Amino acid sequence: MASAAVLWFGKAMSAVPLRNNKAAASAVRTVTVLGATGSIGDSTMDLLRAAPDRYRIEALTANSNVGDLAKLAKEFDARFAAIADPSLLEDLQDALAGTGIECGAGESAIIEAAARPADWVMAAVSGAAGLKPALAAVDRGATVALANKECLVCAGDFFMQRAATAGACILPADSEHNALFQALGSGNREELVRVIITASGGPFRTWTSKDIEQATLAQALKHPNWSMGQKITIDSASMMNKGLEVIEASYLFALTPDEIDVLVHPQSIIHGMVEFSDRSVVAQLGAPDMRTPIAHCLGWPDRIVGPAAKLDLAKIGQLSFEAPDFARFPALRLAYDALRTGRGATTVYNAANEVAVAAFIEGKIKFGAIARLVEATLDGWVRSGNLAPLTSADDAIAVDHNVRNRAATLLPQIAAKAS
Ligand code: NAD
Ligand code: MG
Repeated sequence: MASAAVLWFGKAMSAVPLRNNKAAASAVRTVTVLGATGSIGDSTMDLLRAAPDRYRIEALTANSNVGDLAKLAKEFDARFAAIADPSLLEDLQDALAGTGIECGAGESAIIEAAARPADWVMAAVSGAAGLKPALAAVDRGATVALANKECLVCAGDFFMQRAATAGACILPADSEHNALFQALGSGNREELVRVIITASGGPFRTWTSKDIEQATLAQALKHPNWSMGQKITIDSASMMNKGLEVIEASYLFALTPDEIDVLVHPQSIIHGMVEFSDRSVVAQLGAPDMRTPIAHCLGWPDRIVGPAAKLDLAKIGQLSFEAPDFARFPALRLAYDALRTGRGATTVYNAANEVAVAAFIEGKIKFGAIARLVEATLDGWVRSGNLAPLTSADDAIAVDHNVRNRAATLLPQIAAKAS
């Protein structure tokens, strides 16, 4: 569970800030984008492209897409470009020859990119692989727009504590958390009753458990509202994404599991709501376009002009809501269980899911087996007495590593077992 020591909105030292720093907004900002070639990276580059005089690009990173990375680095005249796959160093050097853009390869180069002096860093690597780079930005007190929820879920309380200690400012870029960030300012901690994060319900919202069990990769990749990277799209179909987001909300805003509700809202227009003691519910709305929450983070503490479509509620006509179904989507229940269990259980939840999603993509397990593998891994971890509070990044990374091995050994029996 999140530590109550991290308070917000003017109450105490916090890594999620108040709207209190007007002066910063007018200056040219140096920007680094970790995961520049992905879906969030693409939306971020789109916003940066729209105001070239306002931003100077320090570093851009990618996993293995040398072509797109080099193209972006040249277009934005970045100072440094890093590719995670160490075997691609020469390719990147060739692609950037004669430009004067420095480059590097391997995990250390991604961390170097994050550590270089940029005021604002977009953390948009996919998966727990983004933890060390995000921490490198946090440790030098940068403003970090956090899209990479897995790194927070992996590191737990520890991430936010380290951010608060370093004086880093964490701006929630995930749409639901950005909505909460915008709505939370309407009251203070004592007045908060609960937060509500919405979920589209994904492509299998109305499917039976039997059909969900057999869903194909192509079906899982057909998200009704959002265009996103592959891993998060599959997480949305299993509702593991919402589970990760419940945990993310707990750590970001120091909320207990009982203070976080999930509401299925198929239109994805309301992204998050906060209920206060007087029963006022403050919501943030917008078209389902990640450029809106990213623009909020990029402009913060001011607001910049966003390119998303204007919200036309008359045209949409109706907004509908449903309670989440924890039976058909066990991933959501498991997230609350992991959060309540604490002591590294959310790290286990995330790591087991990363293994399960990769196995599903490779055709090794059925869709329904994703949640079963996460559950079996979590159960085994708890029963073996492995739970222990995480006190460092190395702790989190070690648990992540060990859980991946454990999940990989459980994989064949989960794959063989009928639902
Ligand atoms: P994506 O797969 O489209 O892009 C991921 C980026 O990270 C790419 O640039 C890739 O090259 C890089 N990357 C992948 N593995 C890496 C590794 N091991 N080391 C270094 N770099 C690596 O994913 P995405 O949809 O842009 O999502 C990125 C993060 O943002 C995820 O944590 C996701 O949950 C979160 N997020 C995404 C959305 C969305 O709409 N896409 C919304 C909210 C949150
Ligand atoms: Mg989200």
